[in-house]
Amino acid sequence: DEGQAAIEARGLSVGYGRVPVLHGVDLTVRPGEVVALLGPNGAGKTTLLRALAGYLRPTAGTIALFGQPCGRMPVYRRCRRGLSFMGEERHIFPGLTVRQSLRLVRAQEGALDLFPALADRGRHRGALLSGGEQQMLALTLALARGPRLLLIDELSLGLAPLVRERLLDTVRATADRGVGVLLVEQNARSVLRRADRAYVLRRGELVREGPADEWLSDLDGLASLYLS
Ligand code: ATP
Repeated sequence: DEGQAAIEARGLSVGYGRVPVLHGVDLTVRPGEVVALLGPNGAGKTTLLRALAGYLRPTAGTIALFGQPCGRMPVYRRCRRGLSFMGEERHIFPGLTVRQSLRLVRAQEGALDLFPALADRGRHRGALLSGGEQQMLALTLALARGPRLLLIDELSLGLAPLVRERLLDTVRATADRGVGVLLVEQNARSVLRRADRAYVLRRGELVREGPADEWLSDLDGLASLYLS
């Protein structure tokens, strides 16, 4: 139904062994939304994405994926329900060429139209692409699977500003086709320009949530949340 969240976490607590990291996190991403997850290093952003994707089991709270409880659902079943996770490590096939990689995931004809720079590299192996090209390929492969929800950790870390902007534009266009997107990104300004809303996570707690344009007009206030 129309109003259903792509993913919704309520009171989510997650830790490593006995070390708690997230404390009672409430978060919602709706279809068609780009939601930025901001916060200082070590706040728990990666941990939150990994828990939503199913790589970490919550110690408390609930997660619903398109309305269905999934707190104990394994990764592959969340994928089947439309979740796609791009972690910090680049999700490509280093030994395969760009075209072989696309064939492997059964990408549609035209998948390479997304990034013309990548189309020129069709016969290059993944390992030999530049960092930016690898990330374009990772995003193309993720989109080829037709996800309904994308969780992305540090899409543009270490990449040139122009490549970062291009990748984030593609993320925005993807959401405009109805996909829900949750994005962790160091460059707050760039991501907020494409986001609908943002959450700020600090020391494992969501301390604020609001529309992206409000955050953009108060970047100083946002920066102050990064300081402890
Ligand atoms: P960054 O921007 O630096 O990646 P983050 O907000 O993504 O930070 P996390 O990587 O989720 O934060 O880390 C949150 C906390 O969990 C940190 O204190 C970190 O040391 C701890 N942590 C992360 N991974 C593990 C692990 N595998 N085992 C134990 N503790 C971990």
